[in-house]
This record gives sequence, structure tokens and C-alpha cells, in this order.
Amino acid sequence: MTDQANPGLGAAHAAKALHRNQQHQHPDAQGHFGPYGGTFVSETLVHALEQLQQAYERLRDEPDFLNEFRTELRHFVGRPSPIYHARRWSDQMGGARIYFKREDLNHTGAHKINNVIGQALLARHMGKTRIIAETGAGQHGVATATICARFGLKCVVYMGSDDVRRQVQNVYRMQLLGAQVVPVESGSRTLKDALNEAMRDWVTNVEDTFYIIGTVAGPHPYPMMVRDFQSVIGQECLTQMPELTGRQPDHVVACVGGGSNAMGIFYPYIGDESVSLVGVEAGGEGLDTGRHAASLTAGSPGVLHGNRTYLLQDPKGQVIDTHSVSAGLDYPAVGPEHAWLKDTGRARYVTVTDDEALQAFHDCCRLEGIIPALESSHALAHAAKLASTLSPQHIVLANLSGRGDKDMHTVSERLALAQQTQADTKE
Ligand SMILES: *Cc1c(COP(=O)(O)O)cnc(C)c1O
Repeated sequence: MTDQANPGLGAAHAAKALHRNQQHQHPDAQGHFGPYGGTFVSETLVHALEQLQQAYERLRDEPDFLNEFRTELRHFVGRPSPIYHARRWSDQMGGARIYFKREDLNHTGAHKINNVIGQALLARHMGKTRIIAETGAGQHGVATATICARFGLKCVVYMGSDDVRRQVQNVYRMQLLGAQVVPVESGSRTLKDALNEAMRDWVTNVEDTFYIIGTVAGPHPYPMMVRDFQSVIGQECLTQMPELTGRQPDHVVACVGGGSNAMGIFYPYIGDESVSLVGVEAGGEGLDTGRHAASLTAGSPGVLHGNRTYLLQDPKGQVIDTHSVSAGLDYPAVGPEHAWLKDTGRARYVTVTDDEALQAFHDCCRLEGIIPALESSHALAHAAKLASTLSPQHIVLANLSGRGDKDMHTVSERLALAQQTQADTKE
């Protein structure tokens, strides 16, 4: 059997396809995606980033490195993740056939593990023995703690102290996995303060420490590196979709927080103009309320976290507070490659509100027997909406980036609130 015919052996084929793509894709040597990306960091970090870039350039084509990555994905994560035909939901929408890429079935329950494995392998090859990460909702922290346990690496996770209180479950998970969780008391005691602290740590301990970033953001080479590791998602789709349906999808839909699951499924399709790419941002309570996290739809270009991209900022350039029912989409910026895909028109970005995402969450539970993450529910909501405007010969492929077990608390609170409001209006 050839690699092509067997998605289980698809990683070698995937790596080859990746190279074909890279010949006409971004970034340039300085990490620019058109006017976006780059390296906006203090002098102290330049050396660390250069060292990282050199190591990655050396290893990204190494057969041994790619083989290790493939083996971990197969035996530890359980890849390839299947593609699933959401038949009942498709029938209900009465339009295109909807398919899910099942990243929710990965070990640890989401796509984040793919990237974390790639970076941890890189750390090991660079001789780094200590890993640091920052986390908001805790999902990236858990993925990082998981792989550090697996590889026997010391793990320190920075987390705003407010987030530590809000995400006790994930904090406990990280501790069970042997990570040290450091609550950050400065500033607003949330993700951006944790990020500053992680940067400070890296500058001080760069000799033995590797900084694992969780999405396609940050200074070069992170956006490119994270995209490459996550592109295993789209590479698998390239072989799985023809096997299952006889062809590639018409539309690929994914939610966008920092943008890593979306870049992962989009990237291998960029060269195929017959496939439309749709990123779904968190519309929160509605764009006109200002309570959302739609950096591409409602933001403007600026510099944040080491790169130039679209962000939510006021006229003075101050970053605006964001809101989303899903913690993983609650980020005021977006990876620079998405900024470029938006400007060039190769991808299109839309928004889905909290309420629409929750509706899709419940539909997916009842109609398909799958409890999706609230982040992923944004992609599903748009996929369903889009499908209803198309006919059954069309195919919409949605990236189901993670499972919803972590969201039980949020969903039950929203339900209780809705029931309360209903009772109040009846009285
Ligand atoms: C973290 C997370 C996201 C958002 O991150 P991206 O980098 O935009 O992919 C989306 N879905 C799930 C399940 C997540 O855990």
C-alpha cells in the first residue's frame, strides 16, 4: 500500500506535500507573511529566537525528526483522527453534506497536543531540559504538562492568578501530570500577565529552557513552526476526503482564536483554489456591543506579542478587553498568516455569536451524539448555516477542534440562567 492510500501512513506523504506547498507559501526568511508577522522583541530575546530558528531549519526536513513526530502522533495521540459524516445534522439543515474532522478524539481532547509534541521534540533535540509555557483557560498548559510527563522534561506553567481560580480543574490536571503551576499576581492577573512572566523566565533561563507557544502567534519562527506541526490535520484530510467522498470538500470551516487549528486544516488546501477556506471568530454578544473577540473582522493592524497582525485596539493603540463564551477564542489578536490570508482574500473570516455557538453545541449533542468544545461549536454553527444555503452535492468540512467535557460548567450555568429568565418573563 502506498502512503497515499493509507492515511495511517500519511505523515511521510504529508511532509512531502508540505514542501511542495512551501515553495509558493509564506513566510519569508524573516518570518513575514506580506506586511504581517516578523520579530518584534527586545534585544535580549533575539539570540534565543535565532537559536530556535536555526534548530528548526535544521530539523524540519530530518527524516529521523519527522519519523519521531509521526510515531508520537500515531501511538500517543491516536492519529490519524477520523473524518465523520454528520448525517442527521446535514439532513436537518437540508443542504450540503457536513463532515467533521475529529480532533476531539485526540489524546487530551483537542488539536493542541499536535503542536506541543512537535515543539517538545525540538526542545529535546536542542538539549533543553526545562519547558515553560503560559496558559489562560489551561488547555495549552495541560497539553504541555502531558508531553513533559511523557518525555521526562521539567515543566513550569505560568497562569494569571484569576485564571488559576477560575480553572481549578485544569490546574489540578497539570499538577497531577507533574507540572509546576506558577500563579501570576501582576496586572489583570490573566493571560497577558502570564505571557510577560513566561518571556521574563525565558530570557533569564534560555540556556536550558524551551518556551512552548500554543498557537500560530508570537515572534518568528513560532507562527510558521506551529502551523507546520498542526498541518498534519489538513494533510490527513487531503487523503481521507477522497477516500470517503470521492473528492475534496467545497468549503473548509474552522474556528479562530489564535488560529492554530484553522491554519492546520487550511494550510494544505491553500494551493487548491477550488476549496474555499472560512475562519470563524468569536462574535461574543454581537459585534455592535463591543463584547467579542473578532480581531480579523473588527480589528486593525498593529503589533502584539512579538508580531504584526490584526488586533482589537482603541484609537490610541491600547489593546481592548475581549469576550467569548469559549475561553479558547478569547484572545485580542490572531496569527499573522491569517491576517495575510484575509488581506489576499484566500480565506474569508466570519463571526458566530455566543448564542449561535451554544445552539450548535446542543444540536451537535442531540443530533450526532458528540459533545463538542464551545470553541469548535463556533465552526459547527457556521458550517450548518453555510450548508443550509447549498445543495446536497456540496461538501462542507468543519474542524471539530476539541471535545466539550471541559465546558460542562459553562454550559450548565448558561442553561440555568436561560431557565431563570424564562421563569421571570412568565411571572
Ligand atoms: C485552544 C483551542 C482553540 C483555539 O485555539 P486556535 O489556536 O485558534 O486553534 C480552539 N478549539 C479548541 C478545542 C481549543 O482548545
